[in-house]
Amino acid sequence: LLTQLGALRRGEPLHQKMRIAGQLMGGERVIDVTNPYTGALIGTIPKASVAEIQHAFRTAKNFKSTLTRYDRYKIMLRASELLRANADAISDLITAESGLCKKDTLYEVGRACDVFQFAANQSLVDDGQVFSCDLTPHGKQRKVYTMREPLLGAISAITPFNHPLNQVAHKVAPSIATNNRMVLKPTEKTPFSALLLADILYEAGLPPEMFSVVTGDPREIADEMLTNADMDLVTFTGGVPIGKYIAGKAVYKRQVLELGGNDPIIVMEDADIEEAATLAVSGSYKNSGQRCTAVKRMIVHEKIADRFVELLVEKTRAIKYGDPMNPDNDMGTVIDEPAARGFESKVNDAIEHGAKLLYGNVRKGALYSPTVLDHVPETCALVAEETFGPVSPVIRCKDIADAIRISNSTPYGLSSSVCTNRLDYITRFVRELEVGSVNVREVPGYRLELTPFGGIKDSGLGYKEGVQEAMKSFCNTKTYSLPWA
Ligand code: NAD
Repeated sequence: LLTQLGALRRGEPLHQKMRIAGQLMGGERVIDVTNPYTGALIGTIPKASVAEIQHAFRTAKNFKSTLTRYDRYKIMLRASELLRANADAISDLITAESGLCKKDTLYEVGRACDVFQFAANQSLVDDGQVFSCDLTPHGKQRKVYTMREPLLGAISAITPFNHPLNQVAHKVAPSIATNNRMVLKPTEKTPFSALLLADILYEAGLPPEMFSVVTGDPREIADEMLTNADMDLVTFTGGVPIGKYIAGKAVYKRQVLELGGNDPIIVMEDADIEEAATLAVSGSYKNSGQRCTAVKRMIVHEKIADRFVELLVEKTRAIKYGDPMNPDNDMGTVIDEPAARGFESKVNDAIEHGAKLLYGNVRKGALYSPTVLDHVPETCALVAEETFGPVSPVIRCKDIADAIRISNSTPYGLSSSVCTNRLDYITRFVRELEVGSVNVREVPGYRLELTPFGGIKDSGLGYKEGVQEAMKSFCNTKTYSLPWA
């Protein structure tokens, strides 16, 4: 696919096949993929049959990797280099399929490079433990050792549309680092980045049986991805309804579920208001507001709320949005027109319930403007549910207890941002916010691709992602013991 990206620039459709253990397969029945901004056909992907999915898992399970740690390190460093060397063309592809602007998709390619670099380094690390056994009166002269092994069966991975390349990188890199074999189904909305990444990994020297990409209609193939007998673990990133469906369907499979969020930025009365407004804007509109950790609620102390809102509107006005291919734009479209219409109707509903619209709520096709609302009642759907788009709803709070109560009032618990310099506030937020991460004076989405990341409550089961934690989830821990005088 990398060699065909010129066709994309000439406006010729990309007709792709699946990558099953390196073989190009499928394509008798296809799904059209269109550009959310222009509406033009970008290309087609195969609609897999259940038999093709079964073939992919069987082939994956039957392959046992003999790659050394150094082999895996080299393959992933090479993949990172190939991504970096082709960053501009790859970012064009992501922009075409997702409507995300060039600034966002260039950043995304850089993040995927980081993922492979971290995974390459981690594949060199042996984190086995040693336990001496002469620790108690009934101890023995032995030692117990731990080692991590790849799963016996394959891994099933399912990814969403909002980071078409980086979400896939976060699944496959830890799988390679641990010598596992993975079958991945990207969303049918943005499937090309995943197919491209498979080609890059094969080019970098990955044995093709270690990574397959299948595509299709989830109504036909999703259940096979969740129940196939040759598969031991499902790793899913996406929304809560499908995550909960998986939790019920993938019985006796290990499950790693990274689901939605409703992350707050909390701005206290002592905060640097200029800094807080800058963080709020970047957290709200980056990636067209479509990040699981985007700022989805702004909980602001009433003493400084007027000044904060003034700056928020001023900084929102400065956001340039429109043609995602224009390198000067800060925001492109959202994923499709139905999503944009959904934001419009949720914002209108909030206004009917007493919120004040200060900027935006303008829609043209899948293009939805950055939008600011003040005095948003905490119970309206715009903030009680996840709104996966570029909306900045301000909720005013009285004090820290009120801020924590509002923050914890939704079913979600992914990440959070806290703007204050008071240590008593900071320690209380870190202890009392029901979330997976608390970032002080940073956006909720801040992390390294290496560090543990993930949510609780409806945002996930508490298992973390990030390269290091994902590697642990993808392994069986075996112990062995030896006599030791
Ligand atoms: P989605 O849940 O609609 O779809 C995700 C994937 O599930 C797609 O590949 C889709 O084809 C597949 N799918 C559809 N039906 C299925 C079924 N019955 N069984 C199994 N898989 C099925 O999510 P989306 O709209 O693509 O992405 C947006 C959502 O993802 C948001 O809620 C966002 O917060 C969440 N997200 C979470 C994280 C995180 O790490 N916590 C990161 C990014 C996005």
